[in-house]
Amino acid sequence: MSKVYYTTIDGRTKIAENTWEVSFKYPLNFSFQAGQYIQVEVPQLLYPDSKGSSRLFSIASSPIDQKKVSIAFRDTGSGFKRSLKELPLGSPINIEGPHGFITLPQNSIYPLVLIAGGIGITPYMSMIRYYSERSFTFPITLLYANRNKESAAYLSELQDLANRNKNFILKPKFGRIDEQFILQNTKKTGIEKYLWYVVGPPLMVEDIKNRLIIMGINPLRILEESYTGY
Ligand SMILES: Cc1cc2nc3c(=O)[nH]c(=O)nc-3n(C[C@H](O)[C@H](O)[C@H](O)COP(=O)(O)OP(=O)(O)OC[C@H]3O[C@@H](n4cnc5c(N)ncnc54)[C@H](O)[C@@H]3O)c2cc1C
Repeated sequence: MSKVYYTTIDGRTKIAENTWEVSFKYPLNFSFQAGQYIQVEVPQLLYPDSKGSSRLFSIASSPIDQKKVSIAFRDTGSGFKRSLKELPLGSPINIEGPHGFITLPQNSIYPLVLIAGGIGITPYMSMIRYYSERSFTFPITLLYANRNKESAAYLSELQDLANRNKNFILKPKFGRIDEQFILQNTKKTGIEKYLWYVVGPPLMVEDIKNRLIIMGINPLRILEESYTGY
């Protein structure tokens, strides 16, 4: 059963155009797996928000990092996000969870392809940070779509991690991920060999999943998470 943990805002960094990472002090007895998400409640909103004081967020930090739990978001102007962006460090936050089954395996007989659209990179950040810290060697290819370089969160950290582990391959795309881009980056191994992860806005997840199925990939080999709520 999931629990509520009481914590505080511990840090805040701009990680791309209009995109913020906010960290909370790691709550006592909290644990999660790379790829899981939490419900974040801001008990004292600075601005009113018709959708209330909580939202779901994937955890972006690694489970090995016991100092903080980080999340990331685009600033849409909602009262909730403006509050998270402006509340002073030390302000109270409640987190509930963890939830979700789209996690990184400890080992994998399949190479993985992780497909991210925009802020859908967050659960993969947790996975790839963990993967790098543990020096895992099963192959991971990350296909990461953004409108442009400026809006690609964590891009330089990802490039750095890819430079350090030859089994982690980063393929950024500025524009939409299409069939050609998928094939181009997976054909050497063979698309049928991979386990596929797709995370992002619902329309993007649906679109990519349908493309993968049309390309002949077994739907049971596709793990997906839709960021409903935008
Ligand atoms: C499993 C899961 C994991 C998720 N993980 C993440 C994550 O890691 N990062 C992430 O960012 N999201 C994530 N989400 C989505 C998240 O829970 C929110 O629903 C989403 O971020 C939108 O919240 P919001 O406060 O921006 O918009 P909402 O308040 O829900 O409003 C929707 C839209 O209305 C507009 N709007 C609302 N208020 C205003 C205002 N005052 N002024 C101007 N425009 C306004 C904005 O354009 C906004 O996009 C996840 C969702 C799920 C289901």
